[in-house]
Amino acid sequence: MAFKRILLKLSGESLMGNKQFGIDNNRLSEYAKEIKEIVNQGVEVAIVIGGGNIFRGIQAEEGGMERTQGDYMGMLATVINSMALQSALEAADVKTRLQTAIEMKEIAEPFIKRRAVRHLEKGRVVIFGAGTGNPYFTTDTAASLRAIEIEADVILKGTRVDGIYTADPEKDPTATKYDSITFDEVYEKGLNVMDMTAFTLCKENDLPIIVFDMDTPGNLKKVIAQQEQIGTVVK
Ligand code: UDP
Repeated sequence: MAFKRILLKLSGESLMGNKQFGIDNNRLSEYAKEIKEIVNQGVEVAIVIGGGNIFRGIQAEEGGMERTQGDYMGMLATVINSMALQSALEAADVKTRLQTAIEMKEIAEPFIKRRAVRHLEKGRVVIFGAGTGNPYFTTDTAASLRAIEIEADVILKGTRVDGIYTADPEKDPTATKYDSITFDEVYEKGLNVMDMTAFTLCKENDLPIIVFDMDTPGNLKKVIAQQEQIGTVVK
């Protein structure tokens, strides 16, 4: 395996599967199976999940809600998703811990870096919930921040598309995929990989990002093995 410790970022929407809202249990157990395979091969796995399938602060603001209130609701949505994934992993016999950026001691540990690293060393999957704990940020930024803190080798951003394209492949059929691209090229070409706060954190801390299609079974393992070209690497 090319990477020893990874941070996997999943969007909230990826948990919907074919549903219009909420969580698809089949999708959850598929993800759990994929994650279990790499844990069994000795990879240390930390996970950040978004909340977009349940609630987004910015949309709530458009409806007249105060932004910070909406953002905290979005952060709580990520905790719901994190708990769902935790259950799916444990049902697959994978040991897990959930740590949240907003304290909720009845259901999760608070985020403590040293403790998170210790869990990873013991082979437990650590899920980081509640984003960064601050409004006006995203779970992509939480993923970058946590990955840097735990000294992950790479962020794996699981998406519906199989990498970074010259244009949105769902809109432009002539778009072509990059196998590899530099941080500077992403800025120059104005490509949308992550929000700029998250992206800049990765660049400034030399943390590579791999964007790949998480919904194709076996891809996660292949990305980590790095024996074949899957997704796009930003470095
Ligand atoms: N959020 C926040 N601070 C954070 C992370 C998330 O305020 O550090 C809120 C924000 O309102 C966001 C929502 O939580 O819209 C859900 O997260 P995100 O949109 O990143 O989820 P994804 O798009 O990955 O599903």
